[in-house]
Amino acid sequence: KPRVFSGIQPSGNLTLGNYLGALKRFAEKQDEGIETIYCLVDLHAITLWQEPEALKRQTREAAAAFIASGVDPSRSVLFNQSQVSAHAEMGWLLNCVARMGWMNRMTQWKDKTQGKNAEQQSLGLFAYPALMAADILVYHATMVPVGEDQKQHVELTRDIAAKFNHDYKTDFFPMPEPLIEGTATRVMSLRDGTKKMSKSDPSDASRINLTDDADTIAKKFRKAVTDPAPLPESLEGLAERPEARNLVNIYAALSNRNAEAVIAEFGGQGWGTFKPALADLAVSKLEPISSEMSRLMNDPAEIDRILGAGAEQARAIAQPILEGALDIMGMVRAR
Ligand code: ATP
Ligand code: MG
Repeated sequence: KPRVFSGIQPSGNLTLGNYLGALKRFAEKQDEGIETIYCLVDLHAITLWQEPEALKRQTREAAAAFIASGVDPSRSVLFNQSQVSAHAEMGWLLNCVARMGWMNRMTQWKDKTQGKNAEQQSLGLFAYPALMAADILVYHATMVPVGEDQKQHVELTRDIAAKFNHDYKTDFFPMPEPLIEGTATRVMSLRDGTKKMSKSDPSDASRINLTDDADTIAKKFRKAVTDPAPLPESLEGLAERPEARNLVNIYAALSNRNAEAVIAEFGGQGWGTFKPALADLAVSKLEPISSEMSRLMNDPAEIDRILGAGAEQARAIAQPILEGALDIMGMVRAR
């Protein structure tokens, strides 16, 4: 049975990019008759400093965002990574398979250390893609719905799986595929059309948070950086206009249409028309999610219970696969 695995770091407020590139699609995958496993990757979050109390709140809030976006804990396995120790254990095994040079080539490592002294970064931040490979491979998951920015890490996961299979003369790990689908696989920053929208961007104006209220959403879109020209009459007119393309793609994804249909409706119109329409659409889609999130956040114990139950299901799948990898690598096990 094909298995889907994906995760999100509880490293801050989830964004519209996380929703369109990940959460919305996670929920859709549940309707395809495949097993879906979704994880709040708290072990990844601590590759950068997290205030302990804030990390707990962010983890519960991210769990609430999953559920509010339609991920149903009775149909999907939903849990936080650190409760399933097989992730960290498989991560170590794969640290010994992956090569330093592979990690060095990861564009996200370069982006996240840009302008900083790489020598002062955590070893975990450097090694994070090997733990991500473990997250996927410890379930023998083959389908990994992610945004465009994670494509390289899923490809690295394939390289790690292939090297393991080759070195140990086995076909133990199946090859996972990144699933990068839809019109919003890379939502861009509202302040800079060449940068990805990220929950860790220091500028709050660069992103729409799932918890932003209607006024904030309207204001952020109104202030979104664009060129002054009206929307083009055809799709080709967006080619050299990254900011305009971004807003059109967001509109398309939120309305479950393609960019062509959006251009057919708004081509030739100015920002004074399009931005308020986009803000209204975003509010109508996000408001039910944020109000459901705050309802769920009233009962943090219930969220913890859901994550605990999910972790138990996850362990039952991961543990035998971890044991299999340990055996292949030559670790003695009691029988
Ligand atoms: P951080 O800045 O902490 O890395 P992030 O916003 O990049 O936060 P992640 O937890 O790294 O979020 O990624 C979670 C999922 O959301 C991944 O599948 C990723 O590809 C997707 N994603 C993140 N940002 C975007 C975006 N701007 N557009 C589409 N998908 C995105
Ligand atoms: Mg990220």
